[in-house]
Amino acid sequence: MNDLIIATQNAHKAAEIAAILPAGCRLRTLADFPDHRPAEESGRTFAANAALKATALSAEAPGCWVLADDSGLCVDALSSSPGILSARFAGEHGNDAANVAKLIRELSVLRCLEPFTARFVCALCLAKDGRVVAEFEGVLEGCITLYPRGSHGFGYDPVFEPVGYAGATLAELAPDLKNSISHRARALSQLAAWWSKHAGA
Ligand code: IMP
Repeated sequence: MNDLIIATQNAHKAAEIAAILPAGCRLRTLADFPDHRPAEESGRTFAANAALKATALSAEAPGCWVLADDSGLCVDALSSSPGILSARFAGEHGNDAANVAKLIRELSVLRCLEPFTARFVCALCLAKDGRVVAEFEGVLEGCITLYPRGSHGFGYDPVFEPVGYAGATLAELAPDLKNSISHRARALSQLAAWWSKHAGA
């Protein structure tokens, strides 16, 4: 069986990835690498940042597969912002409440542009021995509501209404349903197909 290390410090992401991941691999997390210092996310695209995270950790774990996710929200009315800055849109990394509040503030003065079309993007990078082996991308289209609803998920889920779910936000959908339609699920299903062909035990 292959070891697959998930290179994220975001517990929500790790849980979603673990719930969807292909069978035939033994999952490990950054908890097994207490000395690892995460790579600086200095890339200009989701894919570049996923590659930076995956290759940095895989160089420290010879022979292991490493999977990194870089993801975020792109809002058309904000010229695709917050994009790669989604986690730190309001300044402090990972402050979901502040990020959502800032998004609502910025869109509140642009109501003439409603509906606020947007998409979640997830770039996955699979690396081994410090090199990129495969890359995948998943996208989920939807709209932003200025009225947050729901208690599931994380990040911008309370203000993101995916297309085709009667105006429910991602945070109102059951986690299993989110995990079957999300940008991350779409990228992971491509990974699963790749994995069964190339890396399955
Ligand atoms: P990263 O850790 O640099 O990839 O930043 C990801 C950020 O994008 C998260 O902190 C969230 O703000 C946002 N994000 C990514 N995926 C999701 C999701 O599935 N739901 C809600 N927000 C997400």
